[in-house]
Amino acid sequence: MHQSISDDKYEISIRDDKLGLHILATSIENRKNHAVYRHYFKQNSNGKFKKVALNHSNIESVFKNVTQNGITSGFYIKAKGTNNANLQINQEVDNPSSVRHSKTASERSFTSTGEKLPYHWPIFEKYKDTGYASIVRATMTLHQVCASRCSFCSTINRTRKDAISLEEAKAFVNDLHSSQAKFNRKNFAYYNTEYKKLTGTDIKLRGLILSGGGQPNLWPPFSDFISWLARKDIDLGLITNGFPKHVKDRVYDKFKWVRLSITPEDASPFYPEQRFDKQRIPQNLIENSNTTFGLSYVYGPWTTDDILKRLNAISYEWNVDYVRILTDCNLPRRLQLEAHKDLGDRLYNLNFTDSSGKPLKKIFHQLKYHASQKEINNLWKDNICGLQLYNTFWDTTGHELDQKSYCFPCDSVTVLESEDDKTQAERKFNGKKWGTVFNTEVAKLYKDKARSFFNPNEICKACLFVKNNKEVKMLSSLQKYDNIKLNSLTRPEHVNFP
Ligand code: SF4
Repeated sequence: MHQSISDDKYEISIRDDKLGLHILATSIENRKNHAVYRHYFKQNSNGKFKKVALNHSNIESVFKNVTQNGITSGFYIKAKGTNNANLQINQEVDNPSSVRHSKTASERSFTSTGEKLPYHWPIFEKYKDTGYASIVRATMTLHQVCASRCSFCSTINRTRKDAISLEEAKAFVNDLHSSQAKFNRKNFAYYNTEYKKLTGTDIKLRGLILSGGGQPNLWPPFSDFISWLARKDIDLGLITNGFPKHVKDRVYDKFKWVRLSITPEDASPFYPEQRFDKQRIPQNLIENSNTTFGLSYVYGPWTTDDILKRLNAISYEWNVDYVRILTDCNLPRRLQLEAHKDLGDRLYNLNFTDSSGKPLKKIFHQLKYHASQKEINNLWKDNICGLQLYNTFWDTTGHELDQKSYCFPCDSVTVLESEDDKTQAERKFNGKKWGTVFNTEVAKLYKDKARSFFNPNEICKACLFVKNNKEVKMLSSLQKYDNIKLNSLTRPEHVNFP
């Protein structure tokens, strides 16, 4: 058996089973987390990548490539005569405007484009005048347990034992919700009053997402936590891979929105007959009265027309509000833009969009991509990430050992890969690099003056939230705030998840 350690620290081995030869990537930090690859992606003379099955004649060279270039880029083999370490993609594609794409109300409402931030403008006036941040949005991962084995998993290096208790979860929410409101009423009365005039509430946590890491509704106290949260005025969002039987359907009524991730069918053993569209969906989500119900799918060379057609068909059967499709964020920028271009054309060819990329069905294409050096020039004032001024993401990595774990400004620090720097995605939350504060001291994010925790110019060159950072920069430098125009006709939904 061939075995090696890849550049991005996975144990890579060539295996054989009843389905044939494949490459297995196993997380060194947690051997239970692994991904199976039965295909690689080969560039043809037009520059496009096509899926090719691994077999006796190609597996050795793919294995070598993965060992050298990691478990994302390593599976992309470029056309002959060029060097894989410097993937030579059609240079035109390093231009997001060449992607067939049209931004819609769904993309503005159901993803984080930065366009919801003006609906919270007093917190940026407060920051400009005082240097203090306000945390209005948070995400919690609760634990690291997941029933799927996706090859593109952004947290494959997680440890299953890193879980928090119900008490710790409640303390975190209280710190950001009631305690933050009290702090702002007392110390920042002017901005708090302005915020109240605009939104009807104090400056405090407005939107909370429960997300992976793993699968939040497999966390044992999940239902109790939701009952407790439902008594607070916080909008709730849930990102999950499925709906385990032991959680009662009515629990999902408490959410403002639920987004079901559609994973590759061979990566999710709980799909009946290995079909995502045969899984059980809570009837109350299908009836869809109070809760926005959406699907999310990661597009890549593994995607067949059949999957896309079934996603479209099931979106009507399950009565979903949207299907969000995006590309693999583990890819470095140029490959990711190449994948976006391919996705835009594919959706058009299937008549899911018109020639400008405007959706004709419920499927929309989220054009999210890594930054270029030009886009991040002069973006971060005083080396402070703009997201840490309104958002925090608490991931439980390290909790088992330390009894506490880090908060991060965003969820994308796991997938920052840059072909220019030759840095590879960490695929785990690395608190020593991107952490801000521990969960036990989350109140410091608004009680202390905002400060730099790391230098984004050095470690966030591939940032996926450039638009949000730009919007924060703009909102934190206005001379006057009374002429911000908030058009009620174009107001996105879910403004409490900016
Ligand atoms: S990747 Fe971007 S948004 Fe995330 S922490 Fe770095 S600078 Fe902030």
